[in-house]
Amino acid sequence: SGAMRERVRIAIQKSGRLAEPARALLSSCGLSWRESRDRLFCHGDSTPIDLLLVRDDDIPGLLAEGTCDLGIVGRNVLLERASGYGTGEVPPFREWRGLGFGACRLALAVPQAWSDSQAAALDGLRIATSYPALVSQWLKERGIAADVVTLSGSVEIAPRLGTADLICDIVSSGATLAANQLRATDIVLDSEAVLAGPVAPFGDARAEIAGLFLRRLDAVLGLRDSKLLMFQTDSANVPALMALLPDAERPTVMQVDGTDRVALQAVCRGTVTWQRLEDLKRAGADALLVLPVERMLA
Ligand code: ATP
Ligand code: MG
Repeated sequence: SGAMRERVRIAIQKSGRLAEPARALLSSCGLSWRESRDRLFCHGDSTPIDLLLVRDDDIPGLLAEGTCDLGIVGRNVLLERASGYGTGEVPPFREWRGLGFGACRLALAVPQAWSDSQAAALDGLRIATSYPALVSQWLKERGIAADVVTLSGSVEIAPRLGTADLICDIVSSGATLAANQLRATDIVLDSEAVLAGPVAPFGDARAEIAGLFLRRLDAVLGLRDSKLLMFQTDSANVPALMALLPDAERPTVMQVDGTDRVALQAVCRGTVTWQRLEDLKRAGADALLVLPVERMLA
């Protein structure tokens, strides 16, 4: 699909939940763009990677027709489109990487008044959803004969309107469900924003450009929760403190001149919570500093 090209085109959401974090992620990979007047197409400045700003629903189609080479989209949207391909047909796109933002779940939700046994017996019931392909597949895998009612919006009011008995919709906090007297039961899909790309490798200059971008992306994603931790302590405390830092890489221990004190610095891969800092403090760490890690070349 697509003619030979010397530049890579990435589609991201123009506005909405994924728009800002997607841009921020691409920027942290060293990409920058010249803003265009219509703000739909942004020419890549620092790298031959251009941006196309679109509705998230359009991204799988743009990938399928080869208008775009890569896209940042919710796994829910990507897989719904992939499930829509018939048996024997292979979607031309797939998930390349999970990106760690835009987390949500596609879940069944039933009226709060239903008992658990009622919620477990779905045969013959009507399920309203904007994700008919994913829900149908989920039902089929479990041998449940429920009817899928496709709605493009306001899915959560369908049970009150009587157009469906229950729903399957995107849930993050559950507040919208509660406001509509619904409660989530089964999770159909765990979702987050993903980088989507073609199944077939690029046969031209795009292969190298995409490869460079992926290496940077992997470095950025790998560093995301990393912190540089610095503190001082008595030498005797070092073993106990190191035991509290199983995720620390290559800690540096420096003698503080003329004392038995040491200064210690280490990159931690896991989240550094207040709890962890308090545990370190109790084990003898003083002057604790936690710093973000901007770049690292191993
Ligand atoms: P567009 O105008 O681009 O079609 P949209 O209204 O369809 O936008 P958003 O509401 O911005 O899309 O959601 C984009 C994606 O964000 C969803 O597909 C989903 O992957 C993710 N997401 C995370 N949390 C939520 C949530 N609470 N509700 C809906 N989507 C969420
Ligand atoms: Mg949309």
